[in-house]
Amino acid sequence: LFITLEGGDGSGKTTQAELLGAWLTEAARTVVRTREPGGTDVGVEVREIVLHHRGDIAPRAEALLYAADRAHHVATVVRPALDRGDVVIQDRYIDSSVAYQGAGRVLDPTAVRGLSEWATEGLRPDLTILLDLDARSARARLDDARTRYDRLEAEASEFHERVRGAYLELAAAEPDRFLVVDASRPVDEIAGAIRDRVAGLL
Ligand code: C5P
Ligand code: MG
Repeated sequence: LFITLEGGDGSGKTTQAELLGAWLTEAARTVVRTREPGGTDVGVEVREIVLHHRGDIAPRAEALLYAADRAHHVATVVRPALDRGDVVIQDRYIDSSVAYQGAGRVLDPTAVRGLSEWATEGLRPDLTILLDLDARSARARLDDARTRYDRLEAEASEFHERVRGAYLELAAAEPDRFLVVDASRPVDEIAGAIRDRVAGLL
């Protein structure tokens, strides 16, 4: 079972991944929790480049770096785990690229997706949880937690709203794959909604 979490920075992906992982572990499932970018040793280096390189990276180069991280991650971590029958709970996947490199960076979303489909040999999630949050709430939440945040800090909320709109379009186009949750709801209510949906897949 391959479950991905998507949403902007501060939408609560990590918290929900932890809660879902704990619940599944209690239900005697073997859980692999991972993330992109940075789910492998190669990925950690790629993450360092895409998030902390001084100076701009050409949008197509950035898209290729995310795709490279994904190719290595899927080949060495995700597919082997799924082949063992483990549940993979993953922070960000192809939808992040379509939303951020596509809508955010204004590359052709179809081309961006095609790149990742090649990189992953077409591996699709069974379920994608979209934690939907407006830019203002996301920012307030990150300020509250005094978390170090990347793009939200540097860029206008316009960027976040473009990304958010792209995510919602992706979800609308594939309602069977997506669970869209209002991320402004209390943490345990969101976790409950996620558990209900995952229970139906076990
Ligand atoms: O979710 P996480 O904190 O690991 O993401 C780090 C940053 O990478 C996010 O702020 C997001 O803007 C960016 N990102 C991106 N394109 C992706 C994945 C992440 O721009 N495909
Ligand atoms: Mg996070």
